[in-house]
Formats: sequence, C-alpha cells, structure tokens
Amino acid sequence: MPNTYSELNTPKRILMGPGPSNVHPRVLKAMATPLVGHLDPTFLTVMNETQDMLRQLFKTKNQLTIPVSATGSAGMEACLCNLIEEGDEVVVCINGVFGKRMADIVERNKGKLTLVEGEWGETIDPLKLEDALKGKKVKVVAIVHAETSTGALQPLEEISRLVHKAGALFLVDTVTSLGGCPVEVDKWGIDACYSGTQKCVSAPPGLSPVTFSTRAIDVIDKRKSKVQSWYLDMSMVKKYWGKERVYHHTAPISMIYALREALRLIFEEGLENRFKRHKLNHRALVTGLNAMGLELLPKEDERLWMLNAVRIPDGIDDAAVRSRLLSEYSLEIGGGLGEFKGKLWRIGLMGESSTKANVMLSLTALERILAEKGFSLEKGAAAEAASFVYQV
Ligand SMILES: *Cc1c(COP(=O)(O)O)cnc(C)c1O
Repeated sequence: MPNTYSELNTPKRILMGPGPSNVHPRVLKAMATPLVGHLDPTFLTVMNETQDMLRQLFKTKNQLTIPVSATGSAGMEACLCNLIEEGDEVVVCINGVFGKRMADIVERNKGKLTLVEGEWGETIDPLKLEDALKGKKVKVVAIVHAETSTGALQPLEEISRLVHKAGALFLVDTVTSLGGCPVEVDKWGIDACYSGTQKCVSAPPGLSPVTFSTRAIDVIDKRKSKVQSWYLDMSMVKKYWGKERVYHHTAPISMIYALREALRLIFEEGLENRFKRHKLNHRALVTGLNAMGLELLPKEDERLWMLNAVRIPDGIDDAAVRSRLLSEYSLEIGGGLGEFKGKLWRIGLMGESSTKANVMLSLTALERILAEKGFSLEKGAAAEAASFVYQV
C-alpha cells in the first residue's frame, strides 16, 4: 500500500496556554543529536550533567534528583506511590485540579486520605492544615505550589514548619513554578518534589524532574510492601541513575538531550534574571488586561507570574474568542478547568513564551476580538498601559 501521509508540517504557534510553552530552537536541535546507547559512557556523562543542573534548579543537594521518564503526572505518581503504603495517613491540600489529582492517586495507593480544602483561586490557610494534623500520625502532607488551574501561588514556608512539627514528610508539586519563580527545595524543607519539562523549563513534554530528601529515601528503604508501581519504583530507578547503572528501563535519550539543553539555557540566562523576566511580563500583561476592563481570579499578592487566570466577561463566548486567537494570530491560550470551564482564560507566560512581544501581541489581539464582540473598552488602552510598565 502506498504511503499517503505527508511529512509533518505543523503551524508555528505562539504557545500562551497552561503548557506546553514554546521551545528554544537549540532544544529542538539537541533532540536531533544522534542516539547513543543508554549505557554508553557519553550518555552517562549527559545523565550526570542533567542531574547536576536539576539540583541547581531545585536548589537542593539531594542525591536522588532525576527526570522520571514520563510527564508531570508521573512525577506526581512517583512521589506519592514511593512514600505511601496501605493504611498510611496522608493529608492532601486541594484548591484546584491538581490537588484533586493527588488525592485520587493517594486513594489508588490505599492511603488513608484527609483533605484540607481551600476555595479555588485562593491559597490554603495554614490554620486549616494545623487542625487537620491534630491527633493523627500523618506520614505525608502534599500540596501544589503553583495551581495551574486557578493561577494561585501557595506560600510554603509556614506550611512546611507545620508539616515537620507534626513529623510528616512534605511533598510539593512544582510543575508550573520550577524555572519561572523561586523554588527552594532544601530551604523550604521539601522531602519529595516533582515538576515537568513543558512549562517554565521550556522543553517538550515527556519528562518529570523529581527530587527526594534523605528522610524520604529512608522511608522508602524501610517500606514493608513493594511500591505499587514497578515502573516508578525509586528503589530500582535510583540504581540506574546512581553509581550502579543497573538497567531498569531504557532512558528516553532524545528527551534527556532536550532537557539538558533547556537547563543550559536556564543557567545561561541566570535564575534571578529568569524570575525577573517572568515577573515583569506578568505585571505588564495584568496592567494591560486591567486597562481593558478584565480582572484576574486570584488576589494581587497571590498570583502566579507564569499563569494568568482571567475572568471571562459576561456574555463573551469563551471558545469563539480562543478559536479566533488561534486562527488569526496563531496564538494559543487556555480555557478554564473543572468548575471554571467557560469562565476563565488561562494565559501562560512560561519560559520561552514569557516575552514582551507575546504580551503586546496577546493584548492587542484580545482587545480587537473583544471589541468586535461588543465588549465595551477603550481602544489602544491595553497596549499603552502595558508598554508603560516596560518603560519604568
Ligand atoms: C501540568 C501540571 C501537572 C501535570 O503534568 P502533565 O505533564 O500534564 O502530566 C501537574 N501539576 C500541575 C500543577 C500542572 O500544572
């Protein structure tokens, strides 16, 4: 049978959704690097260098710092399934979609689940956690640092203090925050932390950087039962990434090339500069959105720099606006998840996508489309207000 499919020819998109973000050409080029065997001495060096840069990014000395061979959700599952055995008390904080996902995984691992819930769009109140920890022997407390479904940033230091006072392990989701704002694994006393590559790290989706403290590894070493997942069992995976180099599964070599290059780009820019860039572009975007008459969901001091959750004005059709942004500007933004479906736009400014040009284009495009749909606004005000932020 003749092959009737054409060579791939995808449009060039401006990715301003909740991930994936745009990828630097050097990362794509790294993916085209010839394969070597996954135990080839040159690949072992690539692995070591990648781990070294991941430790710098997570701000940790943790030996067990590796990219799990699958997306962020696998990192979530890896952190939870290695630490939880049947009947263990686990507290999960929920104020959005990703906290809910963690709770689901805890139940699948037969942990005894306690929820600490917060309003979507707000942060978790440490007092509520303190109450939940009373009178229980809790093994793990899990929380999301940057809730991508609502745009809220969770402060972690007070939460960490309470977790450790209760003698529990502290597990944190940094899928959206890592590479876009400070993440301090050692300083904040985080015992298990996972992230993803396609958000502020700006590599394609496919790997999930994770890191485990020595306290967490002790807990894993003392398990009475086998980890429920064979693939994500860190007691075996760590022997492949550690000195032993025991084959467990074949590393996704090209993806690790990509991650290594994305990390090189991060450290060329410098973490502080990168965080400043994310903050500035966020401020400019929000100033422009406000000038247009649009509001964000989270309170001003609880907002993510890399994900802006914008309330959709009454009478505006979510899908119609997003499909015009895509067809006329090749610009992707995200819609709302869960209870915010149809009510929120999620405008990402992650990694390579966090640029002044993207801020200005998205404001101009959104303004024009909203004006055409009858939303009352002052033409030109959004771009004007945003550009002022860049001048001062
Ligand atoms: C994207 C995301 C995930 C899931 O990552 P996938 O790569 O889609 O599996 C988990 N947590 C948060 C906070 C996220 O933003």
